[in-house]
Amino acid sequence: MDIEQFRKAGYDAIDRICDYYYSLRERPVVAQVEPGYLRPLLPERAPEKGEEWSNIADDYQKLILPGLTHWQHPSFFAYFPTASTFEGMLGDLYSSSTANPGFNWSASPACTELEAVVMDWAARMFGLDSAFLNDNNAGGGVIQTTASDSALTAIVAARVRYITEHPDTPLESLVIYVTTQTHSFGKKAGLVLGLRVRALDVDAGLREHRWALNGEGLKAAVEQDRAKGLHPFVLIATVGTTSSGAIDRIADVGAVIRDNYPSIWLHVDAAWAGITLACPELREEAQLSGINEYADSLCVNFHKWGLTNFDASALWVRDRRRLIDALDITPEYLRTKHGDAGTVVDYRNWHLSLGRRFRSLKLWFVLRSFGIEGFQSYLRRCISLNNAFAAHVRDSPIFELVTPPSFALTVFRLLPSQALPNGDGDVAHVNALNRSFWTALQTRHQLLLTQTEIGGVFCVRLAVGAARTEIADIENAWRIIENVGQEVLESLSD
Ligand code: PLP
Repeated sequence: MDIEQFRKAGYDAIDRICDYYYSLRERPVVAQVEPGYLRPLLPERAPEKGEEWSNIADDYQKLILPGLTHWQHPSFFAYFPTASTFEGMLGDLYSSSTANPGFNWSASPACTELEAVVMDWAARMFGLDSAFLNDNNAGGGVIQTTASDSALTAIVAARVRYITEHPDTPLESLVIYVTTQTHSFGKKAGLVLGLRVRALDVDAGLREHRWALNGEGLKAAVEQDRAKGLHPFVLIATVGTTSSGAIDRIADVGAVIRDNYPSIWLHVDAAWAGITLACPELREEAQLSGINEYADSLCVNFHKWGLTNFDASALWVRDRRRLIDALDITPEYLRTKHGDAGTVVDYRNWHLSLGRRFRSLKLWFVLRSFGIEGFQSYLRRCISLNNAFAAHVRDSPIFELVTPPSFALTVFRLLPSQALPNGDGDVAHVNALNRSFWTALQTRHQLLLTQTEIGGVFCVRLAVGAARTEIADIENAWRIIENVGQEVLESLSD
């Protein structure tokens, strides 16, 4: 393809993308294909001779689009939606157009400098302490691929800090602390690093408590483990857990760490809910003061609820030296004048890979185009849509909230039509009922939710976040959910 052919194909691609967005609401959310659908439709080998671009573009629409689940659909309520914007798309397009793996300052100065500035914009938008700013040359922010990578990077830095402070610690005695509600990346980090992982108990209870870690729980665990000769060296605390949006008491656990175990690194995974720090009225709930006072590192995914196309995971650290001490390897071919002089940030030392995408461009586009006010009003709209859905659940005789709504997430379940002999305690019975409800709900392809399990209770979660969800989509979702619930209850009473 030459430049003029690209110009034409590019205009055509944008037209097709716009048509796709116009058609989104009419499409089923879930891909209507069976496993293995694609292989029989494609040749066994790549073509010997290059093909016409128009055929390739047509095949994308004919063969690939039908196999996609539409995460940008207004009725996508599964996992945590990944709100995408045209501004973000254009950022990715420009970034691909220069195909620049700007791993250090010299490899492409604008990539490094824009990232440093945009991460400071985001830090200020969130009200983060100045310790986390790139501007201050002590802490700083870097864009990683995912929250899993952000956590892994923080854990590697925490391990090096711990071993430096306690040089005789046997590696096999190190323990990563997560909670029973931490995202599964915590256990995966243990697999990758060959380290033990302990999932701490959290306050349980279906309605009154919110599955959050507090200082007492942390202290009890550390004392137990230390008595066994183990060395917990990092705690992954969460603001907004995946299952229920639970919020660990960051100030409480942070104070326990600072007063008793200062060698333990506190990483706050706020991959989803951290974005609410942009709204001053939500900062207390999102634990801003605890983060500012105690966190060694903080992760917020702009690619979840932050209007920025996947991927863009923001990681801030209080002390950038900890990352660099853990990750700086500088062979001759990576040396540069400015790197040697220490006058620039070389982001290759702040994460695991060498090459890195120019992700700050899309974040810069998004923050400029929306402005902080536009960003805030989108978040507030999602929360109010979620509140509308939660109100339906609360008012319904056949459903109940399993945990209190958290920001833009509602976790609920179907109630049995008759009182159970053992009351609410018959969890197995209610779980079976809800598995039937979930199975039936999955046949409705006009919307998508996800299921989870919290403390042995099977439940369903609805997360608002897609950029185009409106109140009509919430009402429609509720109608479908209520109908399916009624059908399931009726089928069981037949
Ligand atoms: N943390 C939380 C609270 C999440 O909900 C998720 C994913 O949904 C993750 C981390 C993992 O995110 P990523 O895919 O960016 O690794």
